[in-house]
Amino acid sequence: MKLNLEHSVFEIVSRVAERKKTPAYVIGGYVRDLLLKRASKDIDIVVLGSGIDVAKEVARELGGLNVTPFKNFGTAMLKYKDVEVEFVGARKESYRRNSRKPVVEDGTLEDDQNRRDFTINALAVSLNNDDYGTLVDPFNGLKDLECKTIRTPLDPVITFSDDPLRMMRAIRFATQLDFNIEPDTFEGIKSSKERISIVSEERIIDELNKIIMADKPSKGFKLLDKSGLLELIFPELTALKGVDVISGVGHKDNFYHTLEVLDRIAPNTDDLWLRWSALLHDIGKPASKRFDEKAGWTFYAHNHIGAKMTGQIFKRLKLPQNEKMKFVRKMVKLHMRPIVLSEDTVTDSAVRRLLFEAGDDIDKLMTLCEADITSKNEEKVKRYMKNFSVVRQKLKEIEQKDHIRNFQPPVSGEVIMETFGLKPCREIGDIKSAIKEAILDGVIRNDYDEAYEFMLKKGEEMGLMPVKKTGNTEEK
Ligand code: ATP
Ligand code: MG
Repeated sequence: MKLNLEHSVFEIVSRVAERKKTPAYVIGGYVRDLLLKRASKDIDIVVLGSGIDVAKEVARELGGLNVTPFKNFGTAMLKYKDVEVEFVGARKESYRRNSRKPVVEDGTLEDDQNRRDFTINALAVSLNNDDYGTLVDPFNGLKDLECKTIRTPLDPVITFSDDPLRMMRAIRFATQLDFNIEPDTFEGIKSSKERISIVSEERIIDELNKIIMADKPSKGFKLLDKSGLLELIFPELTALKGVDVISGVGHKDNFYHTLEVLDRIAPNTDDLWLRWSALLHDIGKPASKRFDEKAGWTFYAHNHIGAKMTGQIFKRLKLPQNEKMKFVRKMVKLHMRPIVLSEDTVTDSAVRRLLFEAGDDIDKLMTLCEADITSKNEEKVKRYMKNFSVVRQKLKEIEQKDHIRNFQPPVSGEVIMETFGLKPCREIGDIKSAIKEAILDGVIRNDYDEAYEFMLKKGEEMGLMPVKKTGNTEEK
C-alpha cells in the first residue's frame, strides 16, 4: 500500500537520504494519525545511519535551520513550518529489570519497529526513491487501526515489563482514539501492573492528563481501574468505589458518579484544571461518610476535607503547586455552594458571598456544578438546571450592581488609621472586615462614601474618636 505524504519536508528528507545513502522512513504516531486522518504536529524519522547527520543536512537544505541534537540519545530535532521533525538512527533495545532506560545498539528498520509499543505505532512509510510512500507494516498495524485495536507487537508481558509506561500509554490511546485493548494485551497490563512503580510521577501524570483531556475520560479511568493500575497510582479514586447499605438505605457509588461528572464537563471545557476539579470534587467523601438512623448517609464537610486532600494529591503526583492547585482546591471547596443557593430562595447577600469567594472563577464553578447534576430523575435534573439559570442571572445582576468579583476594600487601612489616629493594630482589621461584611450583607453599597460613614459609626461603637475631620469624599 502507498500513502500520500503531503508535507513538503518529506521530499527534502528523501533527497538527503538518497544522497547520503542512508535509507529513511517516517514512523510511529505520524503515520498512525495520517491513516486515522487526525492532525499531528510531530514527525518521527528513522534512518539507517546517523539521525544527527541526516538532520543537519536536511536543515542545511532548508536554508540553514537550527538543529537541536541530543547526543546522549543519538537524536536531533528541527522545527520547520508547522511541524517538529525528530531524526533518530534505527536501533535495537534491550532492557534491564530496574530501569525504563534500555541498552541501545544500532539496528535495522525491523529492530526499530520491534521496539515500538503498539502495532498501530510501529507503522513506517518509506522515503526512499525505489519505494517512496510504501507502508512497511510487519505487525498488521493497519488491520488493528481498522478494527480499532491496541495490541503490542511482541509478547505483552515482556513489552510492559520492559517499559511499564506503555501500560499507561495503552489506556491513554484506547481513550483518546476510542479503541479497544486486545484481551492478551490487557491481561499483560494486569499482570505487569506492579512494574508501574519504576515510572516517574511526571510521566504517569502526562498520560493521565491526556486521558482527562479526552472526549470521554471515563473510558480511561474504567480501564485503569479494571487493570488494577488505578489502585496503585491513585488510591483516593478507588476509595470512592462501592455502595454501603445500612437499614436498607444506600448511597450512590461516588466513583461512577465522579466519572459521569468528568464526562459531563468535557464538552463544556478544555481547561485541564477545571476537569481536574471535576475529578476531585467528591474526593473527600469516603473520609467524611457517616450513617445516622435519622439523616441516613451524610458526607458532612466533604468539600473541606476534599480541598485539603487536593493539596496533598497534587504534591504526591508532582502536579503544579501554584495557582493551578489553588484553583482546583477552591473549586472542590465551593462545589456545593451554587446548588445550596439554587435550592433556597436566592437572596442577594448569599449571591454576593458566593461572588466574593469565587471571584473571577465563578463561571467555571457554575460549569462544574451543572456537570455535577447526574440524577437519573429527569424532572429533578430539569429543576436544577432551571434553578441554576436563575442563579446565573442573579450573579450577573448583582455583579453589575455591586462589583464583588474582584473585591477591593472601598476604604483602605491607611484611611482608617489616619481618621482615628491609629498605629497598626487589630482594630483596623476589625473595621475593615466589618465593612466587608456590611457590603456582602447589603447593609451598605460597595462605594467609598457609604463605607466611610459606616467606618465612622463602627469606630464610635468601638470607642474610637476621629482625630482628623477628613471630608468623606476625599481620597477616593
Ligand atoms: P502522541 O504524540 O499523541 O503522544 P505518539 O504515538 O506520537 O502519540 P510519541 O510519544 O510522540 O507518541 O512517540 C512517537 C513514537 O515513538 C510512538 O508512536 C511509538 O512508536 C514510539 N514510542 C513512544 N514511546 C514509546 C514507548 N514508551 N515504548 C515504545 N515505543 C514508544
Ligand atoms: Mg507523537
